[in-house]
Amino acid sequence: MLDFGVYLHVPFCLSKCPYCDFCSFPGSTDDDRRRYVGALIREIGERDFPARRATSVFFGGGTPTLLSVAQFDALLSMIAARFPLSEDAEITFEMNPATADREKLRALRRLGFNRVSIGCQSTDPGELAALGRAHDPGGFFRAYDDALAADFTNVNIDLMYGIPGQTVASFGKTLEKIVSLSPTHVSAYGLILEEGTPFYARQKQLALPDEDQEAEMYALASSVLTSAGYRHYEISNYARPGCECRHNLLYWKQGEYAAFGLSASSHIGGVRKTNVRDLAAYLADPVSSVAEETVIKGADAEYEYIMLALRLNDGIDEDDFARRFGHRFDVAYADKLAPFRARGLILSDGRRTALSDEGLYLQSALLRDLLP
Ligand code: SF4
Repeated sequence: MLDFGVYLHVPFCLSKCPYCDFCSFPGSTDDDRRRYVGALIREIGERDFPARRATSVFFGGGTPTLLSVAQFDALLSMIAARFPLSEDAEITFEMNPATADREKLRALRRLGFNRVSIGCQSTDPGELAALGRAHDPGGFFRAYDDALAADFTNVNIDLMYGIPGQTVASFGKTLEKIVSLSPTHVSAYGLILEEGTPFYARQKQLALPDEDQEAEMYALASSVLTSAGYRHYEISNYARPGCECRHNLLYWKQGEYAAFGLSASSHIGGVRKTNVRDLAAYLADPVSSVAEETVIKGADAEYEYIMLALRLNDGIDEDDFARRFGHRFDVAYADKLAPFRARGLILSDGRRTALSDEGLYLQSALLRDLLP
């Protein structure tokens, strides 16, 4: 059975971080959340998605843990009614510190959630303040302890590097502290200055690490985490063997998933459908809230597959590529790959073609050369 995922977007946060361009809003009221959950329940019940068996469910955001346990319960029950959950389904929610205490986490565990992803970003108080995060390091450590006490054995910690004021040494300290907690999964993303955010507008005033320092931080994350037994399975993601995020792997492997809520994107039958980002429009008609529909086929499907698969340490499975597109990647792109091979940035063993560690860091630049 092929994996099939269900994503649900919760766009509320305690405050808006100045670097964030996700679809998320601060200052929601009980009534805002009640109306949004009502709309989600309508959308899940009435959208024309096929009734597939779900192997993963992901409540992302925003900050899903701003919802109540009863709201989580209603949403997960509705999802399970539309998409029967496989016995070993990975069921994740994202949380930020100070939005769920131990008791709430226990209740979520009892509902069937078996994975939690905690937004930490850094264990340095100055760096968290520079990021405008709503928590301090103590809040993160409490949240992590609470997740363990609530019997979550599969926990992801989100980190960030390239933070204003951050140094390679301070990032190293954060990594050490995270490794000492021994989570099953760590994500480490470089800060991106997204157009339209306050950080983008005042980038000249931010004491950002330079490109070389950022490259050092990336390499440091890779060496510290792999030495501690994590597998660097995707550019920005590390997992204990067997704890790779099943849901996110669907995105990187061009798998199929249904998605609900503001700005959520589904991918089924080669068609990507993305919902509106306008909360009022979504609440008014959640069932017809698709703002964009793209048929991904031919060369577009092939380029997208290459772009996503080359994020993965496993790279491109040549048999799968040939089955989908009628030719092997390493043969069809041999001329373009040659200079990268010569520099050791891309490796093939006949079965798979993948970027080397150095190649992974340079992935975006490489893709610009590789693809038309
Ligand atoms: S908590 Fe996450 S989703 Fe919410 S504003 Fe901050 S970065 Fe964005």
